[in-house]
Amino acid sequence: MDELTDLIMASLGSAYARYKTYPSATDIATVYNCSAHGSRLRKYMARAYQVLAGLEDGDIEGAGWTAEEVDEVVTEVPALFKDFRAWNRKSKGVESQELSEELVCSYHVHGVGEKCLSEGLNFRG
Ligand SMILES: [Zn+2]
Repeated sequence: MDELTDLIMASLGSAYARYKTYPSATDIATVYNCSAHGSRLRKYMARAYQVLAGLEDGDIEGAGWTAEEVDEVVTEVPALFKDFRAWNRKSKGVESQELSEELVCSYHVHGVGEKCLSEGLNFRG
């Protein structure tokens, strides 16, 4: 099961790195409704949302969202807003790293010391 979860994380990040594919508002709501606090999938959703929320309106539309949806989803999913704020605090004062350059493994659920299928790789591969 962990392997499947890790594979999904790698696929999500890879779709972003290749095609700038963002999760939809529905995807985010579904993840938050079906996962627990601290889940890696939530972590990815909040991180992708942070990137999306930082875009200019025109680019937001290019990503398949509307500016209104970006505002409304945090009302629909309050836990997303909490995680988003946590990411913003974490990003303060550090040079922001492009999401596609983050290590895939930082979104994995496997244990420390367990074999990693994406060892040393970022979402670009
Ligand atoms: Zn890993």
